[in-house]
Amino acid sequence: MSIRAIKRITGGAVQYDGAGVKLVRVIGRDDTEQFDPFLLLDAFDADNPADYLKGFPWHPHRGIETVTYLIEGEIEHGDSLGNTGTIYGGGCQWMTAGSGIIHQEMPQSSPLMLGTQLWVNLPKKDKMTHPAYRDITADQVPLVKEKGVEVRVVSGSYKGTDGPVFGDYVKTLYLDVKLEPNVEFVLARPREETLFIYIVRGSIHSDGQQVPYHRAVLFTSADELHIRAGSDGARIFLYSALPLKEPIAWAGPIVMNSREELSVAREELSKGTFIKHS
Ligand code: MN
Repeated sequence: MSIRAIKRITGGAVQYDGAGVKLVRVIGRDDTEQFDPFLLLDAFDADNPADYLKGFPWHPHRGIETVTYLIEGEIEHGDSLGNTGTIYGGGCQWMTAGSGIIHQEMPQSSPLMLGTQLWVNLPKKDKMTHPAYRDITADQVPLVKEKGVEVRVVSGSYKGTDGPVFGDYVKTLYLDVKLEPNVEFVLARPREETLFIYIVRGSIHSDGQQVPYHRAVLFTSADELHIRAGSDGARIFLYSALPLKEPIAWAGPIVMNSREELSVAREELSKGTFIKHS
């Protein structure tokens, strides 16, 4: 039985994206090799609406899935085909961009906006699949309670409790884990899976290190994850999935396998033929 060690710690730095949204870019385009199949993680933690109200106006996506999960806050979503929805605290939108969508994501004013957007890469064979939305409400996310531990299963399965989705293209375990102070959390996953956590609140200890909030921790391949909450407890998001090991060509919100595919996307956007499926 081997225990996962810390491979890398990322995050911490605040930056701006969209029309001027303050966020922590936890992982991004320079991290794809290590975090495969995860491409990007943006974290929101803002109690001043001015930090996010400008939102993410109209932009395209192709070749990826975006998974937006909020502990608190509200984000309105709309696409160019008239699909609309709102993500509320405790809820998740699992959006498959596939062949292409053009959408906007506009956070609404609330006392606290706390959550993340994760980009999951699509396998080469599924890059141009039909776009799809799965709107998961808070009451659809099961809560598993253990001594000093609360686990919300956003995706995948935890100790026999199934989440509302599993990931249609990349089977993804997505857990929201709340730990009381100094409580240990142990999780066995296939060692081939890329496993990382994002620390939303508090701090954790693992592999002889203490890591504060607003950081992600990527772990090495091994049988079990062992983490312990710091003296203030911890709230973490945990992500685990098998890597795709395919070439990545990345241009802003479009992630394909080759530069040619990026050129095609760019040309289609300028010609107005980007949207393939309605
Ligand atoms: Mn988007």
